[in-house]
Amino acid sequence: GDMSKAETHSSEDSKYPKVKFLMEKDRKRILVTGGAGFVGSHLVDRLMMDGHEVVVMDNFFTGRKRNVEHWLGHENFELLNHDVVEPLYIEVDQIYHLASPASPPHYMYNPIKTIKTNTIGTLNMLGLAKRVNGRFLLASTSEVYGDPEVHPQNEEYWGHVNPIGPRACYDEGKRVAETMSYAYAKQEHVQVRVARIFNTFGPRMHMSDGRVVSNFILQSLQDQPITVFGAGKQTRSFQYVSDLVNGLVMLMNSNISTPVNLGNPEEHSILEFATIIKNLVGCKSDIVHVKEQEDDPQRRRPDITKAMGMGWQPKVSMIEGLNRTIEYFRQELFQSSHNQKM
Ligand code: NAD
Ligand code: UDP
Ligand code: UDP
Repeated sequence: GDMSKAETHSSEDSKYPKVKFLMEKDRKRILVTGGAGFVGSHLVDRLMMDGHEVVVMDNFFTGRKRNVEHWLGHENFELLNHDVVEPLYIEVDQIYHLASPASPPHYMYNPIKTIKTNTIGTLNMLGLAKRVNGRFLLASTSEVYGDPEVHPQNEEYWGHVNPIGPRACYDEGKRVAETMSYAYAKQEHVQVRVARIFNTFGPRMHMSDGRVVSNFILQSLQDQPITVFGAGKQTRSFQYVSDLVNGLVMLMNSNISTPVNLGNPEEHSILEFATIIKNLVGCKSDIVHVKEQEDDPQRRRPDITKAMGMGWQPKVSMIEGLNRTIEYFRQELFQSSHNQKM
């Protein structure tokens, strides 16, 4: 009877990561667009383990089913293969809107699609938030500051973006996504949250993502030349993905409706960064200089005063995060070479 059913149920559940029990009044139905991607899948893990019902919507452009496969079949989990450029009618309480290609090679691969995803896609999710009277969080980016003339960047800064350059499809796409969010907030009273995310790294980054962290780690692990674009004097500040996920959840549930920077202020030049990774891996790779990228922002570091005001701060040091990520890529390389032999 009921008892045997309960037993089957719990033995079935044990194949999943442990999920907290939430009373129905505290349990939310949460949509994560781009939830099969790098950041999205870590956010999904957090929301699932917190005991919520999670709907992942993804078109698998850069995301992979593998990133969320450990939840497939769980009663609180749902995976929709859907393109955010098409309208979507479902019932949810909160929307984390992450769907967008994020690495420069990916968003430059089809700039028109990148623009559609960030404009029409964001409009659709705001329309959804309006209809269900839900709360909407936009994954915006430090790229809205462009090649900044203010350092470090605080949320008051309006940015310095080339509207017709190679990065514009992404930068301007995210800028208009912010504009749309505040238009819906003002005109339709949608509750919006805007996270301006600075460079983030960690396990489940795409191997051929083309971003600096995955490139340098893979090059080091394979004793290939480490490719620094230009002189390598440009700087970035790198945050580990678990810190970002904490920040996103805190921001969503805060009462801060204006944009908030989320990043780790530890800043390094790209040349320094190449040396750090080379030493952590302990490889023989040469550091080589290749052609610099057009419109590459020269300095980037977040001012996180505002995020710290909501009780958030980065906890994982860059070195600790890099060690975990190197380990992940080592295993991925091992597995892919093993699979090729089979
Ligand atoms: P990612 O490429 O791993 O994830 C993006 C996800 O969105 C993928 O799963 C992809 O398949 C999906 N997607 C893309 N277009 C879609 C569409 N039209 N419909 C449905 N799904 C679509 O990248 P990420 O690093 O996880 O980035 C997630 C979000 O965070 C993005 O919005 C990105 O702009 C933002 N962000 C990331 C960083 C970073 O350093 N990782 C920095 C700033 C902002
Ligand atoms: N939309 C959606 N899901 C919903 C509600 C709306 O995808 O549950 C889309 C809808 O297709 C529309 C967009 O969101 O294109 C904006 O919706 P809104 O209601 O603001 O605009 P309208 O439909 O009045 O043009
Ligand atoms: N970069 C590099 N070598 C690479 C990839 C990137 O020197 O193989 C540089 C790039 O020019 C930029 C920085 O590293 O200055 C960060 O690049 P990424 O694509 O990771 O992110 P961005 O912050 O530019 O979006």
